[in-house]
Amino acid sequence: MNIVMAASEAFPFCKTGGLADVAGALSQQLAARKGNKVVLFVPHYRSIRRVSSLKVVPGVFYIPVGDRIEQVSLSYVNWGHVLVFFVGNRKYFDRAELYFTKNGEYVDNDERFILFSRAVLEGCKFVGFRPDIIHCHDWQAALIPAYLKTVYKLDAFFTRTRSVLTIHNLAYQGHYSYSSFEKAGFYPVDFTPDKFEYYGGMSFLKSGIVFADNITTVSPNYAKEVQTNPAMGCGMEGLLRYRRKNFYGIVNGINTDVWDPEIDTMLPMGYDAASFAKSKAIVKQQLQQETGLEENAKKPLVGVVSRLDYQKGLDMALGVMEKLHGKMQFVVLGCGDPMLEKQCRDLAKKYPKDIAYIGKLDEELAHRIYGGADLFLMPSRFEPCGLSQMISMKYGTLPVVSKVGGLVDTVTGYKDGGDNAAATGFFMSAINAGGILAALEKATSVYADKKTWNKLIKNAMLKDNSWDKSAEDYIDLYRKTVA
Ligand code: ADP
Repeated sequence: MNIVMAASEAFPFCKTGGLADVAGALSQQLAARKGNKVVLFVPHYRSIRRVSSLKVVPGVFYIPVGDRIEQVSLSYVNWGHVLVFFVGNRKYFDRAELYFTKNGEYVDNDERFILFSRAVLEGCKFVGFRPDIIHCHDWQAALIPAYLKTVYKLDAFFTRTRSVLTIHNLAYQGHYSYSSFEKAGFYPVDFTPDKFEYYGGMSFLKSGIVFADNITTVSPNYAKEVQTNPAMGCGMEGLLRYRRKNFYGIVNGINTDVWDPEIDTMLPMGYDAASFAKSKAIVKQQLQQETGLEENAKKPLVGVVSRLDYQKGLDMALGVMEKLHGKMQFVVLGCGDPMLEKQCRDLAKKYPKDIAYIGKLDEELAHRIYGGADLFLMPSRFEPCGLSQMISMKYGTLPVVSKVGGLVDTVTGYKDGGDNAAATGFFMSAINAGGILAALEKATSVYADKKTWNKLIKNAMLKDNSWDKSAEDYIDLYRKTVA
């Protein structure tokens, strides 16, 4: 199958979050399977300059945006089995950040991703790659299915092309005014509530949900939640229910080339499910040293690696951390909401022996937290899939999580007095401070019972959260889509 992946970020080229991990890893997984050719399109951001062996496709092509014609060039790199094209337009993509600066979102994000979406289609023609499937990710690429069914409907090049849209987080939808609809070049007759119109303006994500042949999101449980719970559906619940026969939940995997404690060179020493007992204690001790915490093997150490925003629920954990300090330790790596950052900083200053806060993006430290902590806290208010809980399990660091979204699909919760033969972590009974406190206290009591604790670690480390099954699920879906 000829597969085009269209995403606004892909690891290792450009990343702000989980979308990049998925777009990169899934492309490689699909391309490694026989019979698939995979071409990945991402914008040519300024950071792409650092990519080595970048080559240029000779020539340029043109995309209309509103009443202007924009010039687009393509650069490319062979990345494993995947051919990656970078969509170049200086005005739109040669910038310091991907989507926003500290002054807010780029005001022309609509134009930037209109251009990107249309350039993916024109780019396929430009390089002569006729896709069977175009797999689009999130609102930034969600206009592609809409173009295929409207402006490109009669284009012979795409006669056989079908589209799949994956929603990584329904909270981000790309809402713009009617003028964006005009700039995109769609037909005014299609500006109706059953197609593009959304409360008087247009919604990029809605357009994708309406027009994609099939739609997925990143876990089966989140797929259910967004159809039934308006707080999760963010206004799209009715439309998603309407499209339920074409709406699937496929859980993400983690990239085990990057996340594997046995081969992880960022850890002071490696370990596996048979050898973790001694080695993990050393990794913990070094993490305590590195972050200035009291070196204490007895206190359970709780790690957090997270964006600091409302979704992730860390605001609910601050009081709990204060209450439990002395009995437990906490290392928080994360940035985002300035208010939350300040609260974390203040807490760490007040209890330096037990609470450490590092307010930046730090890939290496993240590895050492996943490896050195005993528990990993993720009290998300909603969580489409979540990668961090899967990474922490791989590192034998037991997740303490809320019972939402993909956390339900990927963590097996410890049950008091129940059968814990497969347990890999702890669920909060409620999404509030009390729920976090009770779950951490429960985890602390199990921590004291080394036999059970070690069994849980083993379960977590041996749980298969690789891409193998999910990549097969996507291929099955593509087959269904083109059939
Ligand atoms: P989301 O995509 O909603 O932010 P996920 O759990 O799906 O959450 O993925 C988060 C990814 O970003 C993980 O790989 C996590 O390790 C990483 N990450 C988050 N914050 C930081 C940070 N401050 N430093 C390094 N990595 C981080």
